[in-house]
Amino acid sequence: MTAAPTSSPRFDAAPRGVRTGFEYVEGWGMAVGAHARVLRPRGVDELRAAFAGARENGTKLALRGSGCSYGDASVNERGAVVDVRGMNRILAWDPRTGIAECEPGVTLEQLWKTILADGWWPRVVSGTMFPTLAGAAAMNIHGKNNFAVGTIGDAVREFDLVTPTGELLTCDRERNADVFHAAIGGFGMLGSFARIVLETKRVHSGELEVRGISVPGLAEAMEEMDARTQDADYLVAWLDAFAEGDRIGRGLIHEARYLAPGADPAPERTLTVAHQELPPNILGVPKSEVWRALRLLNHDAGMRALNALKYQMGRLEEQKGWYRQSHAGFAFLLDYVPNWKWAYGRRAGHGLIQYQAFVPKETAYDVLRDVFASSQRAGIVPYLAVLKRYRPDPFWLTHAVDGWSLALDYKVTPATRDALWRHCHALTDRVLDGGGRFYFAKDLVLRPGDARRMFPAQRLAEFAALKRKLDPDRLLETNLARRVFDGAW
Ligand SMILES: Cc1cc2nc3c(=O)[nH]c(=O)nc-3n(C[C@H](O)[C@H](O)[C@H](O)COP(=O)(O)OP(=O)(O)OC[C@H]3O[C@@H](n4cnc5c(N)ncnc54)[C@H](O)[C@@H]3O)c2cc1C
Repeated sequence: MTAAPTSSPRFDAAPRGVRTGFEYVEGWGMAVGAHARVLRPRGVDELRAAFAGARENGTKLALRGSGCSYGDASVNERGAVVDVRGMNRILAWDPRTGIAECEPGVTLEQLWKTILADGWWPRVVSGTMFPTLAGAAAMNIHGKNNFAVGTIGDAVREFDLVTPTGELLTCDRERNADVFHAAIGGFGMLGSFARIVLETKRVHSGELEVRGISVPGLAEAMEEMDARTQDADYLVAWLDAFAEGDRIGRGLIHEARYLAPGADPAPERTLTVAHQELPPNILGVPKSEVWRALRLLNHDAGMRALNALKYQMGRLEEQKGWYRQSHAGFAFLLDYVPNWKWAYGRRAGHGLIQYQAFVPKETAYDVLRDVFASSQRAGIVPYLAVLKRYRPDPFWLTHAVDGWSLALDYKVTPATRDALWRHCHALTDRVLDGGGRFYFAKDLVLRPGDARRMFPAQRLAEFAALKRKLDPDRLLETNLARRVFDGAW
C-alpha cells in the first residue's frame, strides 16, 4: 500500500555501521502508517549506537518487530523506527528442559519450527506465527489458552533489556523485578529486549484433539466455555455479530486438548514441520487467491451472508464430534490464507481495525451484549467477532482480567472512518464503565485519558517513574504512546 510521505523528522545522520532505509511503515491493519527512517541493528552494540545517535540528533525512536500490531504501536510519524528482526538467532535450545534462549527478532514461527521435532511447542502463541518474541513480550501476548496458562510473560524466565542510556539490565522475577513486570506489556517504552529466555510446553503429538460446539447465543457461549475451562487446553469462540435479538452472539466454540502420551500412533510423523502445513487449496481455491474471493464479499451484505453460512457449517461440524488437527493448523489458521487483510482494500485509507475489549466476568455478559447491540443499532457491524476467556497476571500494564475478551474486526474506509471512531469511543465508555480494559497491540482508537480509567493511578505513576529513570531523554516514543499517554511522563 502507498501513501503520501509525511513531514516527519528524519534520522539523517544514521549511526555508523547500522543499516538504514527510508520506508513507509504501517500498522498491520493498514489504517495507519507514516514514512520513517528505519534502523536495522544486528546486535547489542548497534542497538546502543542507535540509541546514542538518537540522543545526539534529538530523534524519537519506535521499536518494531514484525509490525503485526493492528494499530500504531510500532509506527512513528515523528521520528525513526528500530526494526529488531536482524537480531534473530536462537542462542540456545535445551530439548531436555524445553528452555529456549533467543534474540529479540526470533519469531514464533522460527521457535516452533525449531522445537517441535523434540516434542515441544511454545506455551503461548498468538493467532499469527509471524510476531517476534520482542514484540510478543512487549505486548504480553495471549493465546487461546490464556484461561489455563496466562500470557507469554508468564512463560518468560528472564530477559536482557538495553535501555536508551545504553545500560544492559538482566531481569527476572527477583533481579530488577520491577523492570521485569513493567517491560513485559510495556509496549516498548522502557528499552529494547536483547535476549529472552522462554519456557515451552512438552507435547506428545503434533496434533490436538479438537471439537466444535455450536451455541445459539452469547449467554450459551459463555456458559459452555466456562464449563469447559477445567478440561480444555484451548478454548475460542467465533460469534456471528450480525445475528440479532435472542440470537445475538450465536456462534461456534472450538475446544482443543493435548494428546496424552501414547495417544498418537505416529508422533515422529506428526511432530514434523511438514505435517503442520495446511493444504494448498481452500474449498478448491489456491490459498494465495482466497483474499480475492473474500474481497468480493467484503461488504455488509456479503459478510452477513458469510457469517450466517459459517454458523450453519458450525452446526454440522458439531455433529462430527472430536477430530484431530495440527498445532499450527489450530493456532494459526488465518496465516494459511496469505494476505487475507487485502480483502479490506489496498488503497490509502482502507483497511481494518481490531477493537478488542477485556471485561471482568462480573459485568462481561451485559457489556458484551451491549457492544453487539449498539454496533447493530449504529449500522456499524464488525465482520469478525472472537470471544476468549482470561485470567489475571502480574504484569503492570496487562490487558488480561479475570474475565473475557471480545475482539471485533471493523472495516475502515476514508468515508466511514470518523463515524467508526465515534462508535468505538461510545463502546469504550461502556467497556470502561464495566471495569474493562483494552490491548495496545490492537488499539487505534483509545483517547488520551482512557488509560487512566483502565489502570490504577498508582500503577501508572510507577510506570511513569520507571520510564523517567530508564529513558530520561524520552527517546522511545510511538504514535500509540503519544496518542494514549502524551504528557503522562
Ligand atoms: C492476524 C493476527 C492475529 C493476532 N492474534 C493475536 C492473539 O491471538 N493474541 C495476541 O495477544 N495478539 C495477537 N495479535 C497481535 C500480535 O501478536 C502483537 O501485536 C505482537 O505484539 C506483534 O509482534 P511484532 O513482532 O509484530 O511487534 P510489533 O507489532 O512490531 O510491535 C509490538 C510492540 O513491541 C514493541 N517492540 C518491538 N520490538 C521491541 C524490542 N526489541 N524491545 C521492546 N519492545 C519492542 C513495539 O514498540 C510495539 O510496542 C495478532 C496479530 C495479527 C496480525
